[in-house]
Amino acid sequence: MRDWSHIATLQLLENWRRCGVGKIPRSSAEGVERACRWLEQVRLESGVESADLMGLVSSGPQSGMSVERSVTAAPPVVSLSKLAGIPQPSSPSIPPPASSHPETSSTAGNVPVAIPAKSPVAMPIIVGSSDEGRWTESSLDVGGRENRFKILAQDAAACRKCTEIVCSRKQTVFGVGPVNARLVMFGEAPGADEDRMGQPFVGAAGQLMDKILTASGLSRNEVYIMNSLKCRPPNNRTPTEIEVENCRPFFEAQLETIQPEYIICWGAVAVRAVLKTTESVGRLRGRFHQYKGAKVLVTYHPSYLLRNPDAKRLTWEDMKFLMKELGIPLPAPKKA
Ligand code: SF4
Repeated sequence: MRDWSHIATLQLLENWRRCGVGKIPRSSAEGVERACRWLEQVRLESGVESADLMGLVSSGPQSGMSVERSVTAAPPVVSLSKLAGIPQPSSPSIPPPASSHPETSSTAGNVPVAIPAKSPVAMPIIVGSSDEGRWTESSLDVGGRENRFKILAQDAAACRKCTEIVCSRKQTVFGVGPVNARLVMFGEAPGADEDRMGQPFVGAAGQLMDKILTASGLSRNEVYIMNSLKCRPPNNRTPTEIEVENCRPFFEAQLETIQPEYIICWGAVAVRAVLKTTESVGRLRGRFHQYKGAKVLVTYHPSYLLRNPDAKRLTWEDMKFLMKELGIPLPAPKKA
């Protein structure tokens, strides 16, 4: 067996594992040998040079690797020829992302998503784009998503990429909420309370976010809540660009797994992570942007709102804009 295919196979198996594919023969020499033979066959049939194939395999799931992520099916199907730009017949077994969002279902302890399935409101103009406007992977069912999140959360807990952060973090804060939420709350990084409790947005800023959600007719357990960083930066300092990039594989895999229809980016760090722009929140808010298959709304971070109460009015406008798009009427104001 040639060296390239052995190295590529090991990398491929690791990538599959990170993608949440089950039944991977990680420690089996026979399994690796079999996968090597299969990879060699892919190379011969696709006509892709071994060096190119090696590059495609090594770039990992963030590169747009198309994986049939069934945790029960074996062997998993990896479309390397698709990656290499070789035309493929469309597969009826993989539903299109836009319509493939599974029926609302909840994880243990979570309340099912009550957001209506379709918005009766005309689509606002979408500006800006950080990707091609679609999810790169096919959608998993709820069990598959939960399995994948377990693996990702374990990987994050074992991650030591940000050397300064890992010295001071108490634990990683992966994310919380229904794995099939239509709406994702995307924040900056855990603070002291989050670091202590292992949950995102549980401190003063989190309480304000809860109030904003309630005023909008939503509840915390209807949405998935996560941050760009899974660990608390020392003294709650702003995450560096390098740290956001270090954590990108985790948050991108989370979003790719959930495949939400809407993402709210709370604050500049979230904007930088999701939309890859340094434009200010003030310039980006008030309209939808695009991240893969999701519409992205930008607003101020609750911590900023606590320091600048006048800006609450602007975030409220953003929420009203989103609720109109979702077709959810705002609750009647409470009588004094
Ligand atoms: S912030 Fe993310 S990349 Fe950095 S150590 Fe924590 S999990 Fe790893």
